[in-house]
Amino acid sequence: MPSNLYTLQDPTKQYPTPKFQKQPQRVPGLDKKLKPLADHGEESYHGSGRLKGRKALVTGGDSGIGRAVAIAFAREGADVVINYLPSEEADAKEVIALIKAAGRKAYAMPGDLRKEKFARDLVKKAAKKLGGLDIYAAVAGHQHAVEKIADLKTKQIEETFETNVYALIWTTQEALKLMPKGGSIITTASIQATHPSPSLLDYAPTKAAILAFTRALARQVAPDGIRVNCVAPGPVWTPLQVTGGQPQKKIPEFGAETPMGRAGQPVEMSPLYVLLASQESSYVTGEVYGATGGLEVG
Ligand code: NAD
Ligand code: MG
Repeated sequence: MPSNLYTLQDPTKQYPTPKFQKQPQRVPGLDKKLKPLADHGEESYHGSGRLKGRKALVTGGDSGIGRAVAIAFAREGADVVINYLPSEEADAKEVIALIKAAGRKAYAMPGDLRKEKFARDLVKKAAKKLGGLDIYAAVAGHQHAVEKIADLKTKQIEETFETNVYALIWTTQEALKLMPKGGSIITTASIQATHPSPSLLDYAPTKAAILAFTRALARQVAPDGIRVNCVAPGPVWTPLQVTGGQPQKKIPEFGAETPMGRAGQPVEMSPLYVLLASQESSYVTGEVYGATGGLEVG
């Protein structure tokens, strides 16, 4: 991927446009296997000290949007803990190396966020390793498309809600015990929160829940000096989509429905997380920032 993030150019042509090839992977999938590879900022994201000395936890930090966030946070000067599932070690290793290459401390803490004890301990352990916790970017998520409601199984509903909603609440409870004034929590919703696809009957409501949780919590903890905001991506080229997030038949045209006519890349999301994490957005809380190629989040 070219390092062209800071060059004036036509954004509709900045990254690959459909068609993509079909490429099923098993959940949770690997970034390494995406064709074409996605841009997480490895070559393209340049930091400028906006998060100097901060301590950050990023869930889902091995791949996709979370990987881009972890790279950007490190390049902006933050030490970073990433969480991911054990089967994603290959992706995670690369991210750890990239954070270290940025001159920051990097810690890998694999494990399943659906387990309440692990989720709570993760936050405590992250803060212990980092020597505090200033930023929590909750990016991990599960999405599996099912065409007909009759085929939606309880096991899947549980997996989606536990990963996307329960784990977010558990981890946030722990993070709030540890964060100093000035701390920032950034959640990850989706265009699906407000414009749900017919095949995402369980996932879309979890994203609506994340949006509501963000807005409610922001108002609760604003007097304590903690900000809580949300990023709502449109279609972004990540493992989540090719592992069943979309039916495979939809992969070739992935992103074509946006006014820009293409899928987003993870590195096009990370600048929003950086802004919301940094003190520059000190008067912003309870907000949702979309990055959707022109689809309306509203
Ligand atoms: P991704 O597959 O790269 O990232 C999702 C990550 O979630 C995985 O890497 C995995 O580490 C983590 N995860 C899933 N289940 C977990 C569990 N039980 N325990 C611990 N970690 C677990 O895909 P992505 O698209 O970058 O997804 C990141 C976030 O962005 C998700 O919350 C997703 O809902 C959201 N999102 C993605 C898109 C998109 O088009 N890709 C659009 C809107 C929102
Ligand atoms: Mg992954």
